[in-house]
Amino acid sequence: MKSLRIAELLQSPATDAEVVVKGWVRTKRGNKNVAFIALNDGSCVANMQVVVDLAKFDEELLRKVTTGACLRVDGRLVASCGAGQGVEVQAEKIEIYGTADPETYPLQKKGHSLEFLRDIAYLRPRTNTFGAIFRIRHAMAYAIHKYFNDKGFYYLHTPLITASDCEGAGAMFQVTTLDLNNLPKTEEGAVDYSQDFFGRPCSLTVSGQLEGELGALSLGQIYTFGPTFRAENSNTPRHLSEFWMIEPEMAFYELEDNMELAEDFLKYLIRYALENCREDLEFMNKMWDNGLIERLNFVLNHEFKRLDYTEGVEILKASGRKFEFPCDWGCDLQSEHERYLVEEHFKRPVILINYPKQIKAFYMKQNEDGKTVRAMDVLFPKIGEIIGGSEREADYEKLSARVHELGMNEKELWWYLDTRRWGSAPHSGFGLGFERLLLFVTGMGNIRDVIPFPRTPKNAEF
Ligand code: ATP
Ligand code: MG
Ligand code: MG
Ligand code: MG
Repeated sequence: MKSLRIAELLQSPATDAEVVVKGWVRTKRGNKNVAFIALNDGSCVANMQVVVDLAKFDEELLRKVTTGACLRVDGRLVASCGAGQGVEVQAEKIEIYGTADPETYPLQKKGHSLEFLRDIAYLRPRTNTFGAIFRIRHAMAYAIHKYFNDKGFYYLHTPLITASDCEGAGAMFQVTTLDLNNLPKTEEGAVDYSQDFFGRPCSLTVSGQLEGELGALSLGQIYTFGPTFRAENSNTPRHLSEFWMIEPEMAFYELEDNMELAEDFLKYLIRYALENCREDLEFMNKMWDNGLIERLNFVLNHEFKRLDYTEGVEILKASGRKFEFPCDWGCDLQSEHERYLVEEHFKRPVILINYPKQIKAFYMKQNEDGKTVRAMDVLFPKIGEIIGGSEREADYEKLSARVHELGMNEKELWWYLDTRRWGSAPHSGFGLGFERLLLFVTGMGNIRDVIPFPRTPKNAEF
């Protein structure tokens, strides 16, 4: 007989029908005559209660039914007398797929700290919290594809191995095919990394944007959604060494259109979560962050404040607040500054635009003032920067002048500059950090807790 997922069975009426459920034991309790097994199969927070009439089962088999064991239960779906759930399964046959020694199984009935669970990341999804987080992660990934597909964007796959350092967005991981025991040396005797990738330097991508722009300038509107790598040794709760980024890139979009898309996109994703992940969000709200659902609704129902960087800095300076990093015109905002603007001053998300050109990447379109660029960062409560984007410089002369001014290697960027020589067009795009989005949607405080296998300077094992 086909087994149904527990989420589905819990929705169905008690029909006394024969059912099969498969899952992992969360708890087992009972008395001399009957045992109650809470079975979870990963499909929802709720467990299926399996009722076992002890007289009908082999004692030896039941001894092996411990927390963590994996079972198949054949039985009948009946109305439950227990509070809080409509149905339960009266067991007729139990098969144990895998036992779990209670002496060594790390997940016991008591709650575990997030730090403890981080050390056993491979088992975390067996807990209610991480079950909920990874189901929300899945739903958000699906919603992202749905949003862009419905809007006529194409999903473009950009390379992970690349010779371009994009924008100096972050330190890069070198990729090497060299024999580490026999590294080539420069004339000065240092290791010659310029030979890294079959004779040329190469690294893991920090952003798919430059390649994405080429996509936009031919397919019109595209998005990327893939892993990115930054060798930043910053042990903050908002940075990972490997994270996922969504990067839409649109021909014929100016900064205004870019801002509109970013706001619409974020609101779509939040609405999607509220409508489709209700049980998991309510669980997260109850367990970890009792302002979560209210905050999601708040952001959904308020227009994002659009503001010039220059005005933002004025507000920060006039605030009288003692920031850890003092801020003046020209400084790159830290999350404490971003959060002040959002949480305390405007009390809603902010889109900060027109940043000084010296703190932004070379490809951003310059404003007439010669000092600022058409950049936009979307700043969220609890997170700070969730999106970074801009209108791109479409003019060949201006772009190549900027490349020279910054002392960048024009030869390495020939393919990128070529797009401005042949049929260039105004275009814009942005990058949304997938895990930053998930921090916001789940209410979690540490980015290591919204990705199944966090890669940080301290963890690359599993
Ligand atoms: P930050 O200022 O927070 O370091 P950034 O300006 O370096 O971010 P961008 O290069 O603009 O980041 O990348 C686009 C988006 O990717 C960011 O807005 C953020 O959501 C996300 N992001 C950037 N770096 C990381 C990271 N190390 N881990 C997780 N997400 C990141
Ligand atoms: Mg950064
Ligand atoms: Mg930034
Ligand atoms: Mg940025």
